[in-house]
Amino acid sequence: MFHGKLRIHTCRVILLTSLVWFLVDVVILSFYSECLGGSCKKQPQAAALNAIEDYDNDNLQVDENFVSNGHSSGVQSTYKQADLKRWRPAPTVIPVHGLPGEMGKAVHIPPEKDALMKEKFKLNQFNLLASDMISLNRSLADVRLEGCKDKKYPKLLPTTSIVIVFHNEAWTTLLRTVWSVINRSPRPLLKEIILVDDASEREHLGEKLEEYVKTLPVPVIVLRTEKRSGLIRARLLGAKHVKGQVITFLDAHCECTEGWLEPLLARIVQDRKTVVCPIIDVISDETFEYITASDMTWGGFNWKLNFRWYRVPQREMDRRNNDRTAPLRTPTMAGGLFSIDKEYFYELGAYDEGMNIWGGENLEMSFRVWQCGGKLEIIPCSHVGHVFRDKSPYTFPGGVSKIVLHNAARVAEVWMDEWRDFYYAMNPGLTFHRYDSWELRSNALAF
Ligand code: UDP
Ligand code: MN
Repeated sequence: MFHGKLRIHTCRVILLTSLVWFLVDVVILSFYSECLGGSCKKQPQAAALNAIEDYDNDNLQVDENFVSNGHSSGVQSTYKQADLKRWRPAPTVIPVHGLPGEMGKAVHIPPEKDALMKEKFKLNQFNLLASDMISLNRSLADVRLEGCKDKKYPKLLPTTSIVIVFHNEAWTTLLRTVWSVINRSPRPLLKEIILVDDASEREHLGEKLEEYVKTLPVPVIVLRTEKRSGLIRARLLGAKHVKGQVITFLDAHCECTEGWLEPLLARIVQDRKTVVCPIIDVISDETFEYITASDMTWGGFNWKLNFRWYRVPQREMDRRNNDRTAPLRTPTMAGGLFSIDKEYFYELGAYDEGMNIWGGENLEMSFRVWQCGGKLEIIPCSHVGHVFRDKSPYTFPGGVSKIVLHNAARVAEVWMDEWRDFYYAMNPGLTFHRYDSWELRSNALAF
């Protein structure tokens, strides 16, 4: 009898203590989550994206009449005059025979220039000498699947602003990215290009760049971070200035191919909460050859929270009825190249401002999208090349591993609930200075 009462009493105490602990935990965790930028910032559902620009697949020329006398007779009449004045026809992009790298071919450096090539390679961790030999307007093959070429997209598509952040990027790779956007994007869809210089120290990225972009046939602005901010905060700065309805992020060493933009924007029109990535083709860091990537891989991650490519499972092929041109749902994205509805980007809470320099933001955005009611897709009809390199060319103030682990820990803490323990288990040496509890938690884990 006495023992029975004691047991009931003990049980009550345990239950009450657990409840109190649970509540404390909830309060602490939600506090951390807020501090870490983990909220979806839910707002009233905006109406489906309004595609206000009248975009006609077959009629993409600028209506010169409109520009010169202020009125238009053609289909372009809904464009704002201010925008139109700045559009000029794109230069014709034809293969220039004799120039290296045309049609995405490899560039070979003669043996006598080997030493120079090696020296220049160190600057950006890619073959800068090769890049400098290739036209900023180089031609590329149309690498799309046949089924993509005659796909019809809605006439009404949103406009996009292209945001390109860079730190000490080479002139030719940066400007080839810009020219490939200009040359291969339908003008009415391209609102502007926003270049964000993340405290570069190279002279060509200063005034010379600002003067150069003034000569371009589309609006291009150069923004600068006050001090080295890292790619995440640099992108946030760029995003703040976006005037288009969709934000398209690109790395500063990309080349967009024929028809890259329409399928991305068309998918967002269908569902504004879809975040879309092109297939990221490979521009060789050795030869600048354009190499088409497989459309049979999607993004995943390991428990160290490194992004990894994995083979698309059969169940996703079944869901797509084995149509390789259909959007491919992907768990995570590589992160450098994607389009997102601008309003949705902010509804999601944008990027985690507490992330430094490089890394982790791609998984963070992927988890954010999935957990905040969106979808992540690779659009196989859209191909953009990217120079993949083996090593990072720039400094990581404070050390690479500290920065990368810091960013990854924020991903784990904010979005992974108890699954974060796997991350800490995989990084036993993790010492995390800003959040002592993290350190304790990771040390306490007995695996
Ligand atoms: N970047 C930046 N600030 C940094 C680090 C990187 O603006 O502190 C830019 C970089 O110039 C590039 C983009 O962020 O345009 C992505 O970086 P990187 O290409 O090195 O990443 P990777 O493609 O190798 O993952
Ligand atoms: Mn890159």
